[in-house]
Amino acid sequence: MLDRWLRNETDSELWDILASVALFSAIPYNYPILSALYHGLQGEPAIIGGWLIYGAVFAAMLVVGVRLLNTHIRIRAARFAFASLALFLTSRNLKSALLPDLKSVPVSVGALIGTIGVVLSYYACTRLTSWEFTRVRRAVLLIVFFGVVWPLVQICLSRPIRIQMANVFGKTPTAVLILDEMDSAFGEELKTAANSSRVSISEIAYVDSETVRAIPAMFGAYLGGSSWYCAPITLCGSSSEIFSFSRLAFDQNDDVHITGYWHPYCAASGWESCTQSKFPSTSAVDFAIELFLALPLINRVSAIRDKDVELGRQRASWKYLQEATMTAALRSVFWEIGGVLISHVALPHPPGPAPDSGIAIDYRANVHRASLFVRSVYQKGVQKWGSNFRLVVTSDHPLRRQFWCESTLYRSDPSCHLRTLRPSERSTGRVPWIVMGLPTPVESAPRSNQNIFLPVR
Ligand SMILES: [Zn+2]
Repeated sequence: MLDRWLRNETDSELWDILASVALFSAIPYNYPILSALYHGLQGEPAIIGGWLIYGAVFAAMLVVGVRLLNTHIRIRAARFAFASLALFLTSRNLKSALLPDLKSVPVSVGALIGTIGVVLSYYACTRLTSWEFTRVRRAVLLIVFFGVVWPLVQICLSRPIRIQMANVFGKTPTAVLILDEMDSAFGEELKTAANSSRVSISEIAYVDSETVRAIPAMFGAYLGGSSWYCAPITLCGSSSEIFSFSRLAFDQNDDVHITGYWHPYCAASGWESCTQSKFPSTSAVDFAIELFLALPLINRVSAIRDKDVELGRQRASWKYLQEATMTAALRSVFWEIGGVLISHVALPHPPGPAPDSGIAIDYRANVHRASLFVRSVYQKGVQKWGSNFRLVVTSDHPLRRQFWCESTLYRSDPSCHLRTLRPSERSTGRVPWIVMGLPTPVESAPRSNQNIFLPVR
């Protein structure tokens, strides 16, 4: 049977089935597959294994479905599967190219586009000759292939970003803590906790309220208002900038140590030591199920998912990550040999220990945990290097109150519906820039957290 299929490429459904499997597997490529790889949401074996299972299950369903039909309809059915998948991918890519900020399309518009797609697919598989259809198929596969390869070519052609820490922080042992989601309103609390005699405390603007774009901007890559995962460990942005940690090069003489999460920091080069804390991984089968549930239409019906289990998992993974990022910072090789420690810590990023008591109380609890952590880091540095040690505390963005109020974690929080917040709950809309110990060679605080690791601001 396989022989017969292979011998007669233009007139068989095998190629349409194979091409459909390729297109179907391409649907979650950027998100959630590249996203999971980028953020370390799953271990690589679970991601690759889950993706293979997802593709194989679809292939099996398609083969069985098509084989059940009689020969005459079979070829059309296989063609139909391919044409509708091709149109789906085209419309989705057009949407993200033309309307990058639109998160989801209204159901009525989606239904209209879907109907047009079905009509076009039907037309393509009934009116086109075998040879014409084969050419369409080859062209579509070539375009999809090009779409996957092009960002990789771009990243190879892009100029590496060279970071020289000595120009920003001098030669003194310096720890830079990026406390995720730290509002400058709590700067005093951090300062008091560390109990430092030499401290300068400032509030600075932030460049983007999403960690995924704020951190690259600190290293000199401004991605614009929106970004997407366009190749392994690579982000493409609406500013037409493309950013990969693999193009980030630290000066080896600077003894840079990195500990962090949410970004593949260790893909950079020139560092002395590096730890990326990752989320606890699930199995390949679980990830495959996640991929199916994330499919369009199915994700609209995914209310079948147990929200309590989902919430419990979310809380547990963040708790794990918060501890892991603090431990990684305190165990860095930096504490033995000095240099510059850059530490991206998952605090006071919600959720905290008590999400049920509301976003304000829960966030305050995390700020408190963060301030205790700042104290441990400062004390450790002073014990080791005395007055030669410098600690810089800043953040990627302040608390995203709106975002958290809309999340399932705090949906029942009554304060989320209040228009006016108590003064203690209002955000300053800025992030802290606190320097404890020696002042930085660049005298004044930066205006914003953009380019803070570059010598020229
Ligand atoms: Zn963040």
